[in-house]
Order: sequence, then structure tokens, then C-alpha cells
Amino acid sequence: MIERVFLISLLSLVLPMPGFAQTKQVVVVIDAGHGGNDPGHETQIDGHEDEKELNLKISNFLGGYIAQYLQNVTVVYTRKGDQSVSLDRRVEIANGANADYFISVHCNGFERKSVHGTESHVHSMSLEKSVSFAREIESQFSRRAGRKSRGVKDKSDLQHSLQVLKFTNMSSVLVECGYITNPREAHFLNTTYGQEIIASAIFRAFRSTIQKDYPGVEFVKSSGGSTTSETGGVYAIQIMSSKTPISTDDSSFKKLEDNVLRKELNTTNAYRYIYTVGNYASRGDAKRALPDIQKAGFKDAFIIKR
Ligand SMILES: [Zn+2]
Repeated sequence: MIERVFLISLLSLVLPMPGFAQTKQVVVVIDAGHGGNDPGHETQIDGHEDEKELNLKISNFLGGYIAQYLQNVTVVYTRKGDQSVSLDRRVEIANGANADYFISVHCNGFERKSVHGTESHVHSMSLEKSVSFAREIESQFSRRAGRKSRGVKDKSDLQHSLQVLKFTNMSSVLVECGYITNPREAHFLNTTYGQEIIASAIFRAFRSTIQKDYPGVEFVKSSGGSTTSETGGVYAIQIMSSKTPISTDDSSFKKLEDNVLRKELNTTNAYRYIYTVGNYASRGDAKRALPDIQKAGFKDAFIIKR
């Protein structure tokens, strides 16, 4: 027995043994796209902000969540305010910091206003780690944030390379959080609620990616048992019920920002199909989202436990 213990402790000096805590400090660069004299996509809607402002807000929420809920992660920003930063400089910051992950945050725009949804870009589909991170982000956008995911794309989809993805030496993803040219998506992206839910989707994808990439490291802060607003997803908002199933793409739902989920209850009640939106960690989160949903035509919407 003693020999075995000795062997294990000897091995642990040279090998990362599962079960033994490793000390790896993961470095992530958060790159808020554009800034300063480069506004990115400019809004055409009164009271809305240009892309550069939305990128910055989402980036700062994301960095805030990482600092608050994770340990063994260092966050480096390419900009924290409204500054012009060249693409070369962004690459230099990431490579100079020896970063493990690079997340560039953007919002999209297109002449056809109907186009909407999120995208995650990687340099090439052959970059396994970047692709798997990007897929996780898109999955969280769709599951956590109720967005329409347009999927993971690379340089051949865009027909050109993105400099910040091509020249950074780490797992790199450029996220497009939605189209500011689509009125509904623009409205969503211009609310604090929308910015937080987008940032929290990226946060969740980042957390599960580092947990997968470095299984021996404990990244989640033990916060004395208190549940954070980032770990739940137990609340939703019920908007209506029906006797017969209605398509979740029905036009009566068109004013809602989030995807509608339909659930069939195991009940003798005639109204056994219920329709919900959202996925909230706390009742408080759900409460904040409720007014927008009521304004979208569901005055009697209420909060439920999923
Ligand atoms: Zn952009």
C-alpha cells in the first residue's frame, strides 16, 4: 500500500494525474470588435447604438461573468472603452499574452432587414478546437438565449479570411451576436437583458470548453453554496396554453424575441399544451424579462418553474 501511494505521488510530479489538481492559468482574450472612429455596422434606428457599443457592452458582461464565477482564468481585453484598435494590434495583444482562447465579439448587418440570427466564425473547419468552441457557442445561443443559430462558418463560407482569426495562435472564434439591421433582433441587442443573455451564452460555452480542454483544473469558484445567476436555467415564462397543439412558428408568436417552446403536460386538463419562452436562472431574471413579453401581446404571461 505504501509503495503504491509512493508511486502515485512520484508520478504526479511528472504527469497530470486525473484527480490531482493541476494549476493551469487559462488566458482568454476578449476582443470587442471595432471602436473609436470605426463604428462597425451603424444603426438606422433612433435610440439604438452602433455595433461598436453593443460589442463593448456584451464583451464587458462576458468578462465580468468570467471574473465573477471562474477561477484560474485571466481575462485580457483588446479594448475596455471606445478606442480605435487596429486589427494588427488585436492580434499582437492575443499572441503577446500567450492566450489560450480568443473571442472576438461582433454584431452583424445586412441590407435585407429580414435576415437575422447568430453566427460563429473560425478561420478553418480543420481547426478542431476552435470549431468545437464555436459549435458550443452556437448551441448556447440557441438553447440559452433562444436565438436563431445560423451556424459555424469559416473562411470558405465568407470567401475571405478574418485577420483576427487567421493570425492568432490559439483557439479563436469570432461571434456575430445578431443583426442590428433586423428590427426585432436590434431591439433585443439594445436591451441590457439581451446583452446579458448573449454574454451569458458565450460564458457558458467558454466554461464548458475549458472544462473539456483542461479536465484536471477546477475552474468554477466554490461560492459557499450560493447559486449564481449563471448556473440555473430553472425558470421560464408561460405565455399561453391550448387544447390542440399550435406550431411554435405561429404568427401569434412573431413579436417575441425568444423561441417559443411547446410542452405537452401529462394532465386531464383540456388545455394541456403549454407555451413558454426563456430559460432563467432566477425568478429575478425572469421578472426582468416579463414586461417585454407582456408588451409583445401576452398580457397574462407568468413565471413558472421548468
Ligand atoms: Zn463587426
